[in-house]
Amino acid sequence: MSTANAVSIDNLSHRYGDRVAVRNLSLSIAVGEIFALLGPNGSGKTTLFRVLSTLLPAQEGEVLVFGHDLGTAPGKAQAQMGVVFQAPGIDRKLTVRENLRHHGRLYGLGGTALRTRCDEMLSRLGLAERARDYVETLSGGLRRRVELAQAMLHRPQMLLMDEPSTGLDPGARSDVWQYLQQVRQEDGVTVVLTTHLLDEAERADRIGIMHHGELVALDAPAALQGSVGGDAITIKTTAPEQLCSAISQQFDCDVSVVDGTVRLEQPQGHEWVPRLVESFGQQIDTITIGKPTLEDVFIDRTGHRFWKDDVDSN
Ligand code: ADP
Ligand code: MG
Repeated sequence: MSTANAVSIDNLSHRYGDRVAVRNLSLSIAVGEIFALLGPNGSGKTTLFRVLSTLLPAQEGEVLVFGHDLGTAPGKAQAQMGVVFQAPGIDRKLTVRENLRHHGRLYGLGGTALRTRCDEMLSRLGLAERARDYVETLSGGLRRRVELAQAMLHRPQMLLMDEPSTGLDPGARSDVWQYLQQVRQEDGVTVVLTTHLLDEAERADRIGIMHHGELVALDAPAALQGSVGGDAITIKTTAPEQLCSAISQQFDCDVSVVDGTVRLEQPQGHEWVPRLVESFGQQIDTITIGKPTLEDVFIDRTGHRFWKDDVDSN
């Protein structure tokens, strides 16, 4: 495996007892990339994040971070990573600066170097004026910025985050993304994050889509959307199976029922809508057409809708 990659994962599997949380997953992330692991709840994102952050040892397979094998050199890999956990990793009863100082000491920083670095990160994240405030008085968005400042304190080459936007309002979410773009641009930092939000994943350079512990798609967002065969047409009806077979018979095309709605993917979808309405108008409650979204990619690869996925069937 090449050391030019920030992350190289080869055939990683992880089980909790009998439950397979990550299955035969292979994946490389280039240096400087913003990479999103997208999947519904229970798809294995946090497990993969835990292995990458060295919190869990890889049970099967090999993981390299900047060329360091997590199995044999976890310390070297850790030194290159700034990690933001999903559960808040900051102490509410300490001030912003106290949190940063404490975290910096854990990474071996001290004295003037630590003070300078804290000041730099506080100012870069627009937190300088809040440095003396207790974390418990901050909004969710500001707290997340404190976590980012903390994670970047020891100048890691990679920022690894589990659901950094969960619980944030859209404004605070944009704010986090602005900062991620900035650290990538100014410091060349590789960003790896997990998310269950389709629109958030679209902002990444590349996306890995997970489903039941497996990687079901891997590419740039536009390329993934382009891989779906044309426009997505969705029909709501009271008898989806019946309508599905009627359409299939009449037009000799691929059509399926996904979680109670009839779906077709067709180039020139706008030409299909009048055709379908003319033939089956009586049975159609609503018909919608759209350019393929990441949810369409997910449906295309798994046969399930993103949100209605049965997470406990593995
Ligand atoms: P995600 O972060 O995508 O929601 P997780 O990695 O947390 O997914 O979970 C993947 C699967 O592993 C789920 O089926 C979940 O119930 C199971 N799982 C996660 N953590 C544990 C654990 N500590 N013990 C047992 N099962 C777990
Ligand atoms: Mg999770």
